[in-house]
Amino acid sequence: SVPLAFFGGIGGASRAGILIKGGNYLEALANTETVVFDKTGTLTRGVFNVTAIHPEQEREADLLELAALAESWSDHPIAHSIREAYGAELDTSRVTGVEERSGRGVQVQVDGRTVCVGNDTLMEEIGIAWHPCHQVGTTVHVAVDGVYMGHLVISDQVKEDAADAIRALRACGVRKTVMLTGDAQAVGEDVARRLGLDEVHAQLLPADKVDRVEDLLRQTSPRGALAFVGDGINDAPVLSRADIGIAMGALGSDAAIEAADVVLMDDKPSKIALAIRIARKTRSIVR
Ligand code: ADP
Ligand code: MG
Repeated sequence: SVPLAFFGGIGGASRAGILIKGGNYLEALANTETVVFDKTGTLTRGVFNVTAIHPEQEREADLLELAALAESWSDHPIAHSIREAYGAELDTSRVTGVEERSGRGVQVQVDGRTVCVGNDTLMEEIGIAWHPCHQVGTTVHVAVDGVYMGHLVISDQVKEDAADAIRALRACGVRKTVMLTGDAQAVGEDVARRLGLDEVHAQLLPADKVDRVEDLLRQTSPRGALAFVGDGINDAPVLSRADIGIAMGALGSDAAIEAADVVLMDDKPSKIALAIRIARKTRSIVR
């Protein structure tokens, strides 16, 4: 039987915007030793600004329109931001054959031409030589029918409460904070340094993130728990692999909210330390 105080703990957490899907996760939260974060939408806002457009031959506006068309059907924060930057109405009937390449980008048909929009890994996979970009930010390449068309540079910002969230975790005894990202090494390192994270692993595909979490689970002590926090886009496998899967509720996809054990309704990473404190308090009442 579940002690009554667990319901009290779950109720208290829910009033703070933290949904905990069972007493066993409250117990695990109290033992949190390692917290692993996804980057985009979790530690960063997931709202990108287009900071530069570098076409190879077309006009800047044409390259941006092509990228926005290719991103018509994607739910990724990068796709939303590129459509927002384009601003005008898109004739999505021109776009067919949509293939999402998770952790890499998208491939679609626009007016019957094959358009690929994504990162270095995607360009490598389709065998296209790209021009390296030396600007700070995430590079989004565009290729049409096997020809390199140029790239956009986009940049995100860390969430306002992210640095406090990391400090609060350390203050309540969490031993290790880690960030996993599919983004470039330089972008990952920049965010990790700003936030004071212990480790960062970049350029990961969704399956690589599961491998990293398994490595980190092996490094966690037998009584300690590992929490993974994600916004949900492609994160369902990692969320279920962790001892505690925590999803950002407002940004998160339905699949992520389903796969998660804990949902943060307002997407604030600082709520994780609060959840741990509520869990510990509940346990001290139960015992
Ligand atoms: P994160 O690990 O930061 O949450 P993802 O795993 O979702 O990021 O994506 C990793 C990388 O894949 C992005 O930084 C971007 O380079 C590329 N990418 C993913 N989806 C898209 C998309 N729809 N359009 C362009 N690039 C994308
Ligand atoms: Mg993500």
